[in-house]
Amino acid sequence: MSKTTSNLPNPSTSELKHVYSWQQSQWNKLLATRNADHLPHALLLAGSDGTGKTDFAHVLANSLLCEQPSADGYACGECISCNVKKSNAHPDYKYVGLPEGKQQIPVKAIRELTEFLVLSRSYEGYRVVVISAADRMNLNASNSLLKSLEEPPPKTVIILVADKLGTLPITIRSRCQVVSMPTPDQTTALQWLQQQELQNAAEMMLSLADNKPLLALSLDNDEELLSQRNKFAQDVMAVLQQRRSVTEVAKDWDKADLDRLLNWQLKWIHAVAKMQAVQTEGNEKVNKFLAYIQSSISSTASFWKLYSDLLHLKSMTSYPLNRLMFIESMLLLWSDVGRPQSSR
Ligand SMILES: [Zn+2]
Repeated sequence: MSKTTSNLPNPSTSELKHVYSWQQSQWNKLLATRNADHLPHALLLAGSDGTGKTDFAHVLANSLLCEQPSADGYACGECISCNVKKSNAHPDYKYVGLPEGKQQIPVKAIRELTEFLVLSRSYEGYRVVVISAADRMNLNASNSLLKSLEEPPPKTVIILVADKLGTLPITIRSRCQVVSMPTPDQTTALQWLQQQELQNAAEMMLSLADNKPLLALSLDNDEELLSQRNKFAQDVMAVLQQRRSVTEVAKDWDKADLDRLLNWQLKWIHAVAKMQAVQTEGNEKVNKFLAYIQSSISSTASFWKLYSDLLHLKSMTSYPLNRLMFIESMLLLWSDVGRPQSSR
């Protein structure tokens, strides 16, 4: 079996039995539609990344495959179909995701899916397809999927999951029932995150992840990324304090994800802006760094200038003419802010 159409969902989500609390209303609506026997043949779960849409899709898939779901719509976990699903080899189920290390879903994956859809069902439940990152299908893949959406086989549900609805062709969108998936409010997200076993402070992880709880959880497990971020904070501090030159530091970050670097910096600025009002809990190294940024910036004007200049750079990350120069100009903004009063 090729990697592109592996039946293995994300291991962390394969055991999930219920949707997240913030998705309850979406779940209830779909359940009512299903009970009325009006379930559409294609659903498009759209919403922000890191909020559990794909998990929702997996829970829904399990429930649709189940031969005797519970009254609240969840898979029983005991019928033959549920047991086969647990073995990750369910003949009525197909998962398509981004191939490892790739940015697009290739047409090959969708063709395999079309072939799967003409087979007859093996169990009493629905036949289910989950396409995660559906907004990353290339044009040929989208076109290939269209036919299945136009002439769906009976008792089949295709669940598309997408972060960016606008990226999907209108021809695809118009053939699906769009379900708007919510981002939880901060309190709900924090409550959920505090129940997980995190290595770092939940509040810090949530703020790092822009209030997206699932993203916060995966960041917490990503030690390499966290230590990268700490190193970048130290390097920016070294530039602020004129201990290291912009050119030297820029070379260290030549290969880094530019969007990510800018997101970190913008978040630091937000955090500094918030710092006077709220004492934020979190990583001490980072807080020391934030305090230093706060004390180094001479005026509110230069603070917001740094912010708007970084935002401007962020709008250009997709088309940097020269990566090294881009990073240098980014670090220069900090160097300018950190310059002692006398030399300004
Ligand atoms: Zn079952």
